[in-house]
Amino acid sequence: MAEIQLHNTLSGKVEPFVPQKAGEVRMYTCGPTVYDYAHIGNFRTFVFQDLLRRFLKLRGLKLNHVMNLTDVDDRIIANAAAAGVGIREYTEKFVQAFFHDCKALSVEAPEHWVRATDNIDSMVKLIERLQKKSFTYDSEGSIYYRISKFPNYGKLSKIDVAGIQAGARVDNDRYEKESARDFALWKAPKPGEHFWDTEIGKGRPGWHIECSAMAMKYLGDTLDIHTGGIDLAFPHHENEIAQSEGATGKPFARYWLHAEHLLVEGEKMSKSLGNFFTLRDLFAKGYKPSALRFALASVPYRKQLNFTFDGLQSAASSVDRLRNFADRLKQTKFPAGQQKGMAARIAKAAGEFDAGLSDDLNTARALAAIFDLLREGNIAIDKGEFRQGDVAAVQKLLAAFDAVFAVMEDNDGEKLRALGYGTADSGPDDAEIEKLVEERNPAKKRRDFATSDRLRKELTDRGILLEDMKDGTVRWKRK
Ligand code: AMP
Ligand code: ZN
Repeated sequence: MAEIQLHNTLSGKVEPFVPQKAGEVRMYTCGPTVYDYAHIGNFRTFVFQDLLRRFLKLRGLKLNHVMNLTDVDDRIIANAAAAGVGIREYTEKFVQAFFHDCKALSVEAPEHWVRATDNIDSMVKLIERLQKKSFTYDSEGSIYYRISKFPNYGKLSKIDVAGIQAGARVDNDRYEKESARDFALWKAPKPGEHFWDTEIGKGRPGWHIECSAMAMKYLGDTLDIHTGGIDLAFPHHENEIAQSEGATGKPFARYWLHAEHLLVEGEKMSKSLGNFFTLRDLFAKGYKPSALRFALASVPYRKQLNFTFDGLQSAASSVDRLRNFADRLKQTKFPAGQQKGMAARIAKAAGEFDAGLSDDLNTARALAAIFDLLREGNIAIDKGEFRQGDVAAVQKLLAAFDAVFAVMEDNDGEKLRALGYGTADSGPDDAEIEKLVEERNPAKKRRDFATSDRLRKELTDRGILLEDMKDGTVRWKRK
């Protein structure tokens, strides 16, 4: 197996990945801010971190992965106050929608889901530690982090802090590099807004302190990997480093991995351009979860991903090709023995698949290895050269592929129905399909096309496609 190499934003280089403790990975992912439904751009980043954790697991590493739900931030506080409801009440709908969306896209649950509102105590304690070390100052009931006290400020995002005026502050959770300032750790309550009454006063945590506190509470002072979308590198991750390293004096995260953005038809995704999609928008248009996952996974994470409907269509046909090939291997009885050279060909594909993912999660390279083998395998089958003795090795590679990409299982219909799309009828089960196929076979043999077509239509109407093979066998699959 190849050495795992990952691009570390901190060093700006691709480096060998070596966890602190052999065999274990402590990883933190900034989760969604649950003030609205997540969009497919967000899911580009979440699918990336899912591919990463699945690949590390495939390589035998034990994951301790924490993902947070940001349920306290400027937008949530303002929206909840405007709606006249509490934070938990306001965010609950979006939290549940996010969990459902993750399921639909086969994004695995991390080992720990954590919520900001459940961890206010840890944030208060971390702010107290920073107060004791004079990293903070108070102003009008809020507490700010003094960035001039942390000489390494800017080391992740490489911003130059030389020209920044000491004492200039910013209260917003999100701001651009040009407004690098002392930032709020704790914000004084505004009238009508939710607050906590704590040892450091009344108020609420800033967004940045939430992640520092929760990451260190669940994973210790130094994490192996911290992930997020590229827009989080500044200010969010820069501020996380300043807070955590200010308090502990130890490195906060050893590898910082950032996913580039998803664009829509070459443009930034935005509500005003009308090119802003949630998963639900796409599912309502009839696109399948597996096609979206494949489309998001197929572009390496450090490249911008240009989302197009053509791309989504071609992702759907790639998934179909994979599933058809797997069905072919499962349902065909090949002649015994092994095809000359095939074992070596499969081993080469397996090596290239692993090398691709080890190469900073180069999913395009890993997919090329699989699709090259698939094409050659299909040609060998069509020519009648493929042998039963090679089936298990190909299936083993497809299983490794699917442990990471997770698109092979034919469960899109089920997933869509769980989200309320499609019909309530879950379609016939495998046994019923086999029975109807068996019933149709004799009709086909005696050239009773009326009966065989009727049975085919019955199945098609219920979402099952039949394919009559040259050798007289019948393959079926769910639409
Ligand atoms: P948020 O809910 O805004 O905190 O974002 C959740 C995650 O989605 C973060 O890791 C963001 O960096 C990421 N993200 C936001 N917009 C995009 C986009 N267009 N493409 C990829 N990732 C994004
Ligand atoms: Zn975060």
